[in-house]
Amino acid sequence: MNIVYLTTESVPFAKTGGLADVCGTLPSVVASAGHQCSVIMPAFDSIRRAGIPIERTDISFAIDMPGDRIVGGRVLKSTLPAGNVPVYFIDQPMYYSRPYLYGDKHGDYRDNAERFIFYSRAAIEVMKRLGKRVDLIQCNDWQSAIVPALIQSGCGGLPVDTPTVLSIHNLAYQGSFSAEAFPLTGLPWDEFRSESFEFYGGMNFLKTGIVSADHVCTVSPTYAREIKTPVHGCGLDPILRSLGDRVSGIINGIDTEIWNPAKDVHVVRNYDVETWESGKLENKLSLQAEMGLPSDPDVPLIGLVGRLAEQKGWDLILPVMREHLREGRPTQWAVLGSGDPVIESELQWLKEEHPDQIAAHIGFSDPLAHRIEASSDLFLMPSRYEPCGLNQLYSLRYGTVCIVTATGGLADTIVDTTEETINNGTATGFHLRSYDAASLDRAIGDALRLRFHEKEIWKKIVNQGMTRDWSWRKSAFQYIDLYARTISLKRRVGK
Ligand code: ADP
Repeated sequence: MNIVYLTTESVPFAKTGGLADVCGTLPSVVASAGHQCSVIMPAFDSIRRAGIPIERTDISFAIDMPGDRIVGGRVLKSTLPAGNVPVYFIDQPMYYSRPYLYGDKHGDYRDNAERFIFYSRAAIEVMKRLGKRVDLIQCNDWQSAIVPALIQSGCGGLPVDTPTVLSIHNLAYQGSFSAEAFPLTGLPWDEFRSESFEFYGGMNFLKTGIVSADHVCTVSPTYAREIKTPVHGCGLDPILRSLGDRVSGIINGIDTEIWNPAKDVHVVRNYDVETWESGKLENKLSLQAEMGLPSDPDVPLIGLVGRLAEQKGWDLILPVMREHLREGRPTQWAVLGSGDPVIESELQWLKEEHPDQIAAHIGFSDPLAHRIEASSDLFLMPSRYEPCGLNQLYSLRYGTVCIVTATGGLADTIVDTTEETINNGTATGFHLRSYDAASLDRAIGDALRLRFHEKEIWKKIVNQGMTRDWSWRKSAFQYIDLYARTISLKRRVGK
């Protein structure tokens, strides 16, 4: 099969979250199973800092925009780190040469509709210009979600029955714009219909993708079920319910080369399932020094890495942190993240008030993320919802026991510690009993009790997590199966 992945993020070229990890690895694993894969993404400035050579191609194009404007673009080329998947970059500096991918501290960039409609139209143009038959397009998130509808409307000249899968990495980000954005598609107004582009009088890119793609895929089976409910459906649950089994979930894998404690280039001491006790301890002492925390092998170190967004449970984490500080409980916290300015300032303040207990690095740092995973005793992910989540998978592999909400991919990957799961050796972490600060605090207390007073049980939990296989292999085969089914269903329906 010839599969084209449309994405705005892909490690190591551009990353704000898990989408990048998925699109930096999945295409290569699918390719190594014997398929042709390629990635098309915008040429953000960060692609030039990825450390992989980027070359020019002779493909350039011009796209008609409203008001008699013509916006040109050219195509650059590189490969994913595994070397077996070409990556084509849509280069148009007016849209993509900016400090951030989607917005800055003032909010989303005001021309995001134009930036990503241009990207979507340009991607179709590139697929046509490459001249190879495309068997299936996987669109990822709202930024490329209108591509199936564009193709079906005859935009860009690809076969209108080209099979498509829309992969949703987070339903909360939908790409909602006013109807004024519609002419940017280059389509006539009679295409602005509720069966495709129109949604409550405006545009909603994700909804357009959901109703137009042949299959909608999410990043965990539990999230695939949750998004059909009003609580997690973000207003799109009735549409998702109406699709029945055209919505499914495949759990993400991880890059087990990059996220491997035995080979990790970012940590001071490599370790494996035999040596994690001494290895993690050495990393902990080093991280304490790096982040300005007092050196103490015995104090529990709690790690947090991720977007500072309400989704990630900061309304529970901050009260629990404050409680620990107020009561003088012996815990250290190593936090890495950026996002909501209110959470950022609170963390800064807590760090200044309690430098012996709180280390907070506001920003994005892949090496530090690795070191926090390798050094912490516990890792917190009390997310309000979590499509898949990657940090809990990294934590499992790094022997860092996770405390999670039983939602989405967290429920699918972390086995709660109970008498039964301890006895049958399946326990890998702790679930919150309910979404509140008291449950988070209780779970931390339960975990620390085992960590310090039931060391044999703790070892079993760590060992079980470290030896589970979270490589992409299994999930990639599920994707390949999904692609094949989608293509053959489309052929049968088309006949
Ligand atoms: P989401 O996609 O919702 O942000 P995921 O857990 O699926 O959450 O993926 C987040 C990815 O981004 C992980 O690889 C995580 O390590 C990384 N990440 C998030 N914030 C930071 C940061 N500030 N510095 C380094 N890596 C980060």
